[in-house]
Amino acid sequence: MDSALSGFFLKPNYSSLFSLFYALLPFKNMKLICIGRNYTDHINELANERPEEPVVFIKPDSAILPMEQDFYIPEFSNDVHYEVEVLVKIKKVGKHIDKKFAHTYYDEVGLGIDFTARDLQSKLKEKGLPWEKAKGFDGAAVIGKWLPKTDFKDINDLNFSLLKNGQEVQTGNTKLMLWEIDEIVSYVSRFFTLKKGDIIFTGTPSGVGRIATNDYLSGVLEGQEFFHVKVK
Ligand code: ZN
Repeated sequence: MDSALSGFFLKPNYSSLFSLFYALLPFKNMKLICIGRNYTDHINELANERPEEPVVFIKPDSAILPMEQDFYIPEFSNDVHYEVEVLVKIKKVGKHIDKKFAHTYYDEVGLGIDFTARDLQSKLKEKGLPWEKAKGFDGAAVIGKWLPKTDFKDINDLNFSLLKNGQEVQTGNTKLMLWEIDEIVSYVSRFFTLKKGDIIFTGTPSGVGRIATNDYLSGVLEGQEFFHVKVK
């Protein structure tokens, strides 16, 4: 067989095998899908405009701070901010999910931090460039423990907060979201196929602020600590 013909026969087979391979590995290549500006007061705080659609960005899986590890402020930033956020974990593959079925795509709720190199993000925003370097760097995603959503009366009424060195610096409630969790799941699935193990960061309320070496951060959801992290 000449090379043109072998290309014709082998290429489609190769790519479909490749897709099959990934379809069978739902835990590999998970992604973090993050929502920006999802609480009114946080929009005012950063002087952003209320968007017509959710602001969506992705962090790579390498951004996940391993459990119980300290967070090291990266050398490229002097202004890393904490953003405490409610998380949901996707439990099955989905695309173009209707809002009324969105709740069947996740059954665990968590809490985490979307660390943001604010100085770098501002520079990138000014130039109209993507934020990835400011949001997706190593360690920029703190993910705490998970609980079944059935442990909570109403996921659209969850109180959560972030404590810095024992002082409450952020408080929020999921009922104050501009886009509630089911709307987010539905919306992002129009663009990205959701896969088992993907995690959605649902946005942060007001009170974001800078961290410094030796800070101790802890996140509380409905009265329970979900994570703690030391800053180095
Ligand atoms: Zn955020």
